[in-house]
Amino acid sequence: MSEVSENLQQVRLKIAGACIRAGREVTSVDLIAVSKTFPEGAVCEAFEAGQFHFGESKIQEAEPKISALPGSLQWHFIGRLQRNKVRRVLQIFDVIHVIDSFRLALCVNEIAKEIGVFPKVFLQVNIGKEESKGGFEIQALYAEMEMLLKLDRLEILGLMCIPPATEDAESARPWFVALRELRNALETEFGLSLPGLSMGMSSDFEVAIEEGSTHVRVGSAIFGNRSYRVDGELG
Ligand SMILES: *Cc1c(COP(=O)(O)O)cnc(C)c1O
Repeated sequence: MSEVSENLQQVRLKIAGACIRAGREVTSVDLIAVSKTFPEGAVCEAFEAGQFHFGESKIQEAEPKISALPGSLQWHFIGRLQRNKVRRVLQIFDVIHVIDSFRLALCVNEIAKEIGVFPKVFLQVNIGKEESKGGFEIQALYAEMEMLLKLDRLEILGLMCIPPATEDAESARPWFVALRELRNALETEFGLSLPGLSMGMSSDFEVAIEEGSTHVRVGSAIFGNRSYRVDGELG
């Protein structure tokens, strides 16, 4: 068995354990294998081990991998999204996790209309109010939600966050609770359904699942350590 498939098996077992502890169905969590910086061969190994969801954060890097692999795979865009990249991202990705402003949402909606797609998106929340991170401020989300809901091309699956770095997984728990509670409050306030919570990475995905995550984004625990940083936000 390849190292990638062994790692995948470990991660899946941990996901199952967290679901059992939380009294959730194992099928309520999608594992997104974050393959940024890793070659196509690594993605193939994961695919052969039954992995279907992959995450990438740079379009130039993702394009060759996406075209080399079967069309049935689901690709999730998780990097910073610039408006001049939206068209390309909409053409090759299935889900965008990083809608971080009304301006970007509007741009995605317009281009989606032009090319005839209805993208699935997550609204990224700057849950820790960090200068260095993208995402809606909580107040802005309340103020702009009515406008966001009028963007009729967007299928808003839920909220996403990259919480402040913590020393251990347990210390990340309050951030995951905060994102879930924000989701619940928005659902009540606006009478809508936001079923998705994209939260949890290699170091803390089990805690995130215990707190309601539906999409965990796991890179290094599957593919190994990355040798270089990918963007200003997360290596
Ligand atoms: C790189 C990245 C991940 C995966 O991080 P790991 O710690 O390797 O699991 C998850 N989410 C985002 C947004 C990322 O940029």
